[in-house]
Amino acid sequence: MTIFEKIARREIPANIVWEDDEVIAFHDVDPKAPVHVLVVPKRVIPRVAESMPADQALLGKLLLTTRHVAEKLDLLESGYRVVINNGPDAGESVPHLHVHVLGKRRLSWPPG
Ligand code: AMP
Repeated sequence: MTIFEKIARREIPANIVWEDDEVIAFHDVDPKAPVHVLVVPKRVIPRVAESMPADQALLGKLLLTTRHVAEKLDLLESGYRVVINNGPDAGESVPHLHVHVLGKRRLSWPPG
């Protein structure tokens, strides 16, 4: 079981900001910005490169959920970044698809 599945099952504590039947969103334990939330599908897809056509609705749901998170945490006006790390060069560390939502500071581009 992945660490994010354990969070969804309440086996590991997390500061949850959004949840429904399909997704859960919670604050990152090691934040890289004043707001750093992870949006995670409850059904495990290891990474976006392994998603399938049958995952299309769930992938869309993840992006729509970032909008709910941004609204709830007052990011809509200041802006925010949505990030998916896929594989070693991107720094992926948890093999359970998750979308980072980063905000409340000016983020540089391109990323390091
Ligand atoms: P990534 O590097 O894209 O795979 O992102 C994984 C993220 O999960 C990192 O930003 C970690 O800080 C975060 N993380 C790992 N364990 C936990 C946890 N128990 N609760 C919240 N965030 C976590």
